[in-house]
Amino acid sequence: MYDVIIIGSGPAGLTAAIYGQRARLSVLVMEKQPMSGGQILNTYDVDNYPGLPGIGGFELGMKLREHADKLGAEFVTADVTAVELSGEVKKVLTEQQTYEARTVILATGAGYRALGVPGEKELRGMGVSYCATCDGAFFRGKDTAVVGGGDVALEDALFLARGCRRVYLIHRRDEFRGAKVLQEKVAATPNIEVIWDSVVVSIQGNEKVEAVTIYNKKKQEQSECAVSGVFIAVGILPNTAMFQGQVALDEGGYIKAGEDCVTAAAGVFAAGDVRTKQLRQVITAAADGANAITSVERYLNGKS
Ligand SMILES: Cc1cc2nc3c(=O)[nH]c(=O)nc-3n(C[C@H](O)[C@H](O)[C@H](O)COP(=O)(O)OP(=O)(O)OC[C@H]3O[C@@H](n4cnc5c(N)ncnc54)[C@H](O)[C@@H]3O)c2cc1C
Repeated sequence: MYDVIIIGSGPAGLTAAIYGQRARLSVLVMEKQPMSGGQILNTYDVDNYPGLPGIGGFELGMKLREHADKLGAEFVTADVTAVELSGEVKKVLTEQQTYEARTVILATGAGYRALGVPGEKELRGMGVSYCATCDGAFFRGKDTAVVGGGDVALEDALFLARGCRRVYLIHRRDEFRGAKVLQEKVAATPNIEVIWDSVVVSIQGNEKVEAVTIYNKKKQEQSECAVSGVFIAVGILPNTAMFQGQVALDEGGYIKAGEDCVTAAAGVFAAGDVRTKQLRQVITAAADGANAITSVERYLNGKS
């Protein structure tokens, strides 16, 4: 029986592991991927983590894991398939085993949102990608499209423009949601062409992406754009399906919890991108990891 099981080893889970070890709690971290680090493993540069300007996402993930290892946190590589969170003893299930703890921190983060258009599923991994920093190198010298208008879409377009011949940035509105500094960089990059007011209606190709069909909502016109790769950056979805009915979720599927990471279920805490919050970044995920452990300690000491 552990004091706390942490599900997920992104920045939130790893920070919780660090703080948990320092609080002398018995901690188990469960991670389904072979590597810790979470979503930042997919990003080229993390340019906004204080004190570490321009650190690679992969390097930051490794450093966080090394820190938790150094303090002696116990890790298991396992896909959590179900949880039982209502009793005093919390149960965390994998296909092979059931783990028990007095408290659980849900730090399962988020994943990519799909466009849901014909061709997307069929051509996934054959030119359709959700991670420019992972797959961009395959499209050196080629024409690609990025779909979206937030920070990730702008960053993806800038990253791809370094190697691709041309990058079409397709956005459904007439202005971006992403940071002004990124918008300025996009505008100053000659091989990025912004296609405003447009949505992708289908992706074409025979065993590899060959084109996207675009519908311009203002002009009410359909056109085809020849590309070898389509990078979809239209938002993220929280990994909370298995917690449904056990903790309160908002309409977007995020776990309802405040800065103290306390959920509606006693002894259950939510940290990082999975919880309701204003800003989903490494720094806020890490802050949650620390706060979640403080709340765990209070709960175990009978103070909440
Ligand atoms: C392309 C990209 C670029 C980004 N760039 C930046 C940036 O420059 N700066 C910045 O601050 N933020 C950036 N972010 C956001 C940042 O990565 C996230 O806010 C942060 O990783 C959230 O951390 P987390 O620990 O809450 O969740 P995650 O990083 O999502 O980690 C969750 C972990 O839980 C694991 N998990 C999920 N389900 C299960 C399960 N059933 N069983 C076991 N394990 C499970 C996952 O495998 C994952 O390792 C970027 C994100 C993306 C996608």
